Amino acid sequence: MSDVVANLAKIRSRIDRAARAAGRDPAAIRLVAVAKTHPAEAIRPVLAAGQRAFGENRVQEAKAKWPALKEVWPDVSLHLIGPLQTNKVREAVALFDVIETVDRPKLARVLADEMDRAGRRPRCLIEVNTGAEPQKSGIDPALADQLIRVCRDEYRLPVAGVMGIPPAGQDPLPHFRLLAEIAHRNGLDVVSMGMSGDFETAIAAGATHVRVGTAIFGTRDYSGG
Ligand SMILES: *Cc1c(COP(=O)(O)O)cnc(C)c1O
Repeated sequence: MSDVVANLAKIRSRIDRAARAAGRDPAAIRLVAVAKTHPAEAIRPVLAAGQRAFGENRVQEAKAKWPALKEVWPDVSLHLIGPLQTNKVREAVALFDVIETVDRPKLARVLADEMDRAGRRPRCLIEVNTGAEPQKSGIDPALADQLIRVCRDEYRLPVAGVMGIPPAGQDPLPHFRLLAEIAHRNGLDVVSMGMSGDFETAIAAGATHVRVGTAIFGTRDYSGG
């Protein structure tokens, strides 16, 4: 477990260094610690070390882990970073503070209705499929401006920015640049991009949030459920 805290410190200093190298203020870059598949026991020392933003990719898993942790650390900011189905929107709006995966008008409409009903308004990021990969979630980059407009103006969602995952095995830099450009031209502040393997490149390209899992918590074991 102390490994996890040492890893966290290392990642924070790498973020600082990457920010300075890019001529950016390190304080402008938020680390989202991706805790998916890792149990509460692995997360607690990271919370105790002061980390407050966390990412989870599944609503059910987050629901099993986070309500108890949020009682102890109420200032946690919980980010949904995995695909959201409309039948999970109610639970997602109740639990998450940021929903990073808004990628279609229908989901936006259901989210808007639920936020009105629940009186809780988690900030939303528009997920952009920068590589236009057919198997991947996220809006096609050519349609991103239009979806952002619909989410903001029609559904009145609290749209804060964009999120993306570059295609595996490609240079991520052009994808990060495209994502930052989409945010910039739409007047959005948040650019969530960069993972364990490429967050320094993402910071150079303008990331405001990096989502780091493996480099903090170690490799994930999907076999054990
Ligand atoms: C799992 C995941 C991450 C973290 O990836 P690592 O390579 O473990 O740092 C970041 N973003 C999303 C959307 C993820 O699903």
